[in-house]
Amino acid sequence: MGIKTGEEYINRIKSRKPEVWLGGRVVEDIYNEPIFKQPIQEIAKLYDIQHDPEYQDEITHICKETGERVNNAFIFPKTSEDLQKRSKLFEVYARMTYGLMGRTPDFLNVVVTSMAHNSWFLDKYNKDWSKNIKDYYTYIRDNDLFLTHAIINPQNDRSKQSHEQKETYTHLGTVEEKEEGILVRGAKMLATLAPITDEVIIYSFPGFTPGDERHAVAFALPIDTPGLRIICREPMQDGTRSMFDHPLASRYEEMDALLVFNDVLVPWNRVFLYNNVEAANRLYPMTGIAEQPAHQSGVRGYIKLAFAVEVACKVADSIGVDGFLHVQRDLGELVQSVEVIRSLLRVAEYEFTINDYGEARPNPDALETIRGFLPEMYPRAIEVIQTIGAGGLLMSPTGADFDNPELRVDIDKYYGGRSGVSAEERVRVFKLAWDLCGEAFGQRLLQYERYYTGDPVRKRAIFYNKYKKNKNFTMVDEVLNKPMQIAIDAVKQ
Ligand SMILES: Cc1cc2nc3c(=O)[nH]c(=O)nc-3n(C[C@H](O)[C@H](O)[C@H](O)COP(=O)(O)OP(=O)(O)OC[C@H]3O[C@@H](n4cnc5c(N)ncnc54)[C@H](O)[C@@H]3O)c2cc1C
Repeated sequence: MGIKTGEEYINRIKSRKPEVWLGGRVVEDIYNEPIFKQPIQEIAKLYDIQHDPEYQDEITHICKETGERVNNAFIFPKTSEDLQKRSKLFEVYARMTYGLMGRTPDFLNVVVTSMAHNSWFLDKYNKDWSKNIKDYYTYIRDNDLFLTHAIINPQNDRSKQSHEQKETYTHLGTVEEKEEGILVRGAKMLATLAPITDEVIIYSFPGFTPGDERHAVAFALPIDTPGLRIICREPMQDGTRSMFDHPLASRYEEMDALLVFNDVLVPWNRVFLYNNVEAANRLYPMTGIAEQPAHQSGVRGYIKLAFAVEVACKVADSIGVDGFLHVQRDLGELVQSVEVIRSLLRVAEYEFTINDYGEARPNPDALETIRGFLPEMYPRAIEVIQTIGAGGLLMSPTGADFDNPELRVDIDKYYGGRSGVSAEERVRVFKLAWDLCGEAFGQRLLQYERYYTGDPVRKRAIFYNKYKKNKNFTMVDEVLNKPMQIAIDAVKQ
């Protein structure tokens, strides 16, 4: 067992029967649902390239334990070389989807690898928990599974803790212990791609206080476990819009969902943490599940930003406005923002540390800096596309208009770009740009960059507080305490 093909992934989708709600109805056939069909194909491609000689050695390796080929997301990184191998995987996957799909299988497979590598932490609380996460890692590695996750509670009353919400089980919590496992009830969000995954893993950001015990829980389950209801958000596209008119939205929309657990049984061997506020609060800092997946997100975000910048440059070039100074200034700024992220990634990968347990972790300061700046750089790239494209972004004819010979003459005349750019070339670039900067699809991508791993405001505040704790601003103390030799000598004379 080891790497799977796209077809094997699709067969898994076809064999599962998750309870998926979409626009007020239950989806009976996930694979043939127009909204999911293309995203399933995009994920399948990622499985397939594991078998493509062009990519195989870059994104997979032979597992020492089993002798089988497995994905690089399952590497326990111990050296700089291991981090490079992972980085290559992240980049290949991101390039395949232009960084527009954030929750490709590598993301959560790295989370589970990181938890399993740091099972020593869970071991201190409960030996079963650490065994369970290690077994789960082996299971998803050897079956090459695709996971979703839901780490936050529904947005009910954010001024109150989970145990203070109006109802006890608004936020997911444990109802009771059974012989076979724990019974859980309540909701979690925001599970991206949930309908087309194999499994869901539940854990939480820190922030539990005494009283939240029943909500301090981490586990994993098959996505079609009885009692697990998946309520999809409103789709950004209907699955039938043409690739010509919506080249991105028609391919890369990732569905997001609320997960509702209606007394779902979690077998004991799938429980990673339970009824323990302290362990739940320390899970993030102790298991590297902030840093290791942040490496994937950084590489993915870098590709997505680079893609948006290319779109901005193409829009400007296609109508010949990149000869104007202010347009060059804006485009220059965007290109530099890509270079900043690229450089930070190199710092993260080369200035790694090895922790007491032999795990190589990319430099967290560099990764958190990426996390801090991307939510500003990406929206800025979108703003520049909007500004340069201006009214033309709204004015594109459709593919059907191009196909009509009566209209075609006008279209060729009035939609052509600068010398050498045909109407079709220009309109296709503008349609791509509009998907990215105007369509609901593009707005979700923007919101994703802001929030995919927590609120950027609090993330930056946490970063500052940690930074302050670890630094003592020695240069300031040094300069203030430096004797003023010349002045003293002068006084002596
Ligand atoms: C497109 C998209 C995809 C995502 N995919 C996933 C996924 O697959 N899995 C997953 O688990 N999560 C996912 N996330 C969810 C992400 O984890 C959350 O959006 C993020 O943690 C922020 O939480 P929230 O949206 O509930 O905002 P909130 O935490 O409710 O914040 C709302 C506002 O209130 C402020 N605020 C709230 N509480 C506080 C506080 N205590 N202190 C100070 N300010 C506060 C914030 O600054 C913010 O402005 C995704 C998010 C997006 C947008």
